[in-house]
Amino acid sequence: MTLRARKTVEGLKEYHPPLGGRDGLRLDFNENVGGCSPRVLAKLRAISSETLNKYPEREPGERAMADYLGIKPAQTLLTNGVDEAIHLLAETYLEADDEALIAVPTFSMYEIYALATQARVLTVQAGEDFKFPTEALLKAIAKKTKLICIANPNNPTGAAVPRAEIATILKAAPNAAVLIDEAYFDFYGQTMFDALGKFNNLFVARTFSKAFGLAGFRMGVVAGSEAQMKLVRRVSSPYNVNGVALECLPEALADREFVASYVEQVKRGRAKLEAFYRERDVRYWPSDANFVLAYFGEFRVAFVQEMRKRGILVRDRNSDPGCAGCVRITLGTDEQTERLLKTLPEALAAIGFQTQRSAESKR
Ligand code: PMP
Repeated sequence: MTLRARKTVEGLKEYHPPLGGRDGLRLDFNENVGGCSPRVLAKLRAISSETLNKYPEREPGERAMADYLGIKPAQTLLTNGVDEAIHLLAETYLEADDEALIAVPTFSMYEIYALATQARVLTVQAGEDFKFPTEALLKAIAKKTKLICIANPNNPTGAAVPRAEIATILKAAPNAAVLIDEAYFDFYGQTMFDALGKFNNLFVARTFSKAFGLAGFRMGVVAGSEAQMKLVRRVSSPYNVNGVALECLPEALADREFVASYVEQVKRGRAKLEAFYRERDVRYWPSDANFVLAYFGEFRVAFVQEMRKRGILVRDRNSDPGCAGCVRITLGTDEQTERLLKTLPEALAAIGFQTQRSAESKR
C-alpha cells in the first residue's frame, strides 16, 4: 500500500511558473521591476527581533488597510497574496459538484483552487478581441454556480470589464460569491470597493505584488460584506500574513508618491510599446494593466529566446486558451522601457520577423 492523495489532487494540473533562472530584466511576471518604496526598505532595516519572535498581529494591519480602502476593518481580510484570497473563497463557498465560473483566458489560480475543492469549473471563452464575454458568462450562470472569478483588468489580456457589466453579473448570480480581482487596479483606476455595501455576494481583492513592488512580501487583501467575511475568516489561518510584511504595510500604504510615480512610468511605457506594435504592424490587445499581450504567431518561440539572449525575459502565453502565438511583456520604469524599445527591433530583426496578421486571420 502506498500513500495516495485525494483523487481530485492527483488529477490537478501543476502550475508551472518558472521559479528559478530569472536573471535579466524580468518583464515576464507583471511584477514591479523598479523596486519598492524606500520607506518600506527603511522600515525593514529597522525590524527588531520582537517582530520575528512574536506571532504576527493582523488586526492593526487590517485597520490600516480598511482606512486606505475606505471600508470597515470587519470587511477586510489580509491574505498571503491574492492567491490565498482565491483559495479561501473557494474553500468557503464551493461544495463538491458546485460550479465555479470563469472567463478564459485568465489567471490560472482560479481554476486550480476551485478544482481542488472537487467543484466543477466551467469556462467561457472570450472572443478574438479578448473583450470580457459578459453575455456568454451570464448565460452560463446556473443554480450550482457558487463562485465567479473575474480579474479586472484581466491577466494576460489587459482587458477591463465595465462596472455596469459587473453589476449585471452580481445581480444575475445572487447565490454565487463573485470575486473582482483588482490585482492591476493601480494601472487602471476603476474599482468596485465602493459597491461593497450594495451587493452581499461581491468580494474585491487587491495585491501588493504589482504596483507596490512587494511580491516577495506575499501581501494581499480581500473584502466583502461583514457577514460573509466572518465566514471567510473561519477558513483562514490566524497567522496567514507574516509579521515583517505587516510591520512594513503602513509605510507601503503611506508612500503614495512612490506608487503614483511608478504607475505614471508604466502607463507611459504601455503607450510606447503599443505605438511600437502599431508601427510594426504587430497585432496587440490594448491593455489597462502593466503589460501588453501581442501576437507573434510562428515567430513566438524565436522571439522569446532572442529577447532572453539580450537579457530581457518576456512571457510566452501560447498555452493559454485562445492565446496561441501570443507573448506578454510587462512594462516597468522609463529606463527599462527605453531598454525594451531598443532591444525589440534588434530581436525582431535577428529572427527575420514579418507581421503575422495574415496568419492570424486564418486562426
Ligand atoms: N490575480 C491576478 C489577476 C494576477 O495576475 C496575479 C499574479 N500574477 C495574482 C492575482 C497573484 O497575486 P499575489 O502575488 O498577490 O498572490
